[in-house]
Amino acid sequence: MRLFNSLTRQVQEIVPIEDGHVRMYTCGPTVYRYMHLGNLRTFMLADLIRRALELEGLKVTQVMNITDVGHMTDESSPEALDKMLLAMEDEGLQPLEIAEKYTAAALEDALAVGIRRPDVLPKATEHVPDMIELTERLIDNGHAYVVDTGSVYYDVSSFPEYGKLSGNTLDKLRPGHRDLETDPRKRSHADFALWKAAGPGRLMKWPSPWGEGFPGWHVECSAMSMKYLGDRFDIHTGGTDLRFPHHEDEIAQSEGAVGHRVIDVWVHGGHLRLAGQKIAKSTGNVVRVPELAERGLDPLAFRWLTFQARYRSEMDFTWEAMEDADRRVRQLRKRMAEWAPPAAELSAESRAFDRRFREAIADDLDLPTAVKVVGELVSSAAVPDGEKYALLASWDGVLGLDLERDAREAWEPTEEVLRLVTERDEARNEKEYARSDEIRDRLQGMGLEVMDTPAGTKVRPR
Ligand code: AMP
Ligand code: ZN
Repeated sequence: MRLFNSLTRQVQEIVPIEDGHVRMYTCGPTVYRYMHLGNLRTFMLADLIRRALELEGLKVTQVMNITDVGHMTDESSPEALDKMLLAMEDEGLQPLEIAEKYTAAALEDALAVGIRRPDVLPKATEHVPDMIELTERLIDNGHAYVVDTGSVYYDVSSFPEYGKLSGNTLDKLRPGHRDLETDPRKRSHADFALWKAAGPGRLMKWPSPWGEGFPGWHVECSAMSMKYLGDRFDIHTGGTDLRFPHHEDEIAQSEGAVGHRVIDVWVHGGHLRLAGQKIAKSTGNVVRVPELAERGLDPLAFRWLTFQARYRSEMDFTWEAMEDADRRVRQLRKRMAEWAPPAAELSAESRAFDRRFREAIADDLDLPTAVKVVGELVSSAAVPDGEKYALLASWDGVLGLDLERDAREAWEPTEEVLRLVTERDEARNEKEYARSDEIRDRLQGMGLEVMDTPAGTKVRPR
């Protein structure tokens, strides 16, 4: 599989550091607000990469952090307010209750649009000691310094490769007007905080060797990614706005701490816009997953909508496009039910379709082309129905549209299946477990899921 690497600015082959196993980190949600469809487009990108790699037979370990340390309204101002504190005042909840509420909502919304749960979901508040340790390491090896207020800054001039991801090298970073308000103790305007002394507007704070304070936002991802994936791993994803400063600073921290390259490939997703405006929590023009269902639209169809553009492009969300996507997905499911059951073998025509689909996915997730191949397959006169079913069912491993839903609901057991189920229940009553297992294996071999219930054997299509 090939992906566009923001670091090399080239499409490149993913060659896992560990044979057959890709390790990937994704910048996760900030949990004092609900996720909007833009956030979900970006999380879906990571999930699509994972699905595409799995289609190629690779094992993937995915880590996504939960940012539950409240960050400030304005990261560069000492008068800034804790965003978590603002949410608390709005809602009358304690910080961890807020984090819990919005973490649960984020995971639920992600699931509703077919984003599978990452393998590890570390919370920032549970990893403050790891962040402190990383900060100490950076002080020890000359990449960071402590100021008298108890804040710790990264010395950008100590890392000559600074800017390699975003192009914002030190010589290009001029002091901005905001810097007039920033900590005058910083050696350079480009230096960024690893640890901040807790000011009066600060709610969540922890003890540290430098006094009470809280970690900088960027250090969170360096500490948690290396804790769970090691100091060499394959892929890091996020939205395009995170390229600078978040990811640039993450590189400086991680590589500064260990002294070598940590991440091979950086993948950034383009933003989703609503009526031409960037969807953002701050501007209030958000669409959330529950609103799709309220309008009678299937949240999974949001996937189909995003498949119409390459992941790096900005994309507009419109209700017309969402309704089109919903119609299309429902239609595909209906066709699948008509085409069932799946064929066991594929003809040369089908194999050619399969190659084209997989090639599109492997080509930097070219979903617009993959979607075109789906359309051609659906209307092809050369491919028998059962083969269309088999192909779409396997492609759905990447598309994630639950295309077999209608077929599953319309399914009825054949005479043979009914006979085997009866025979298995008889065998179990007579405690002939070897025979009962043998029948179970046969049913599974027919593509069925076999369940033991108090009422006996139940089967359904897998
Ligand atoms: P946040 O919770 O604001 O930190 O955002 C979580 C993820 O969503 C980050 O990777 C952001 O880059 C991404 N993101 C934020 N806004 C948008 C948008 N309008 N479209 C796509 N991704 C976004
Ligand atoms: Zn991050």
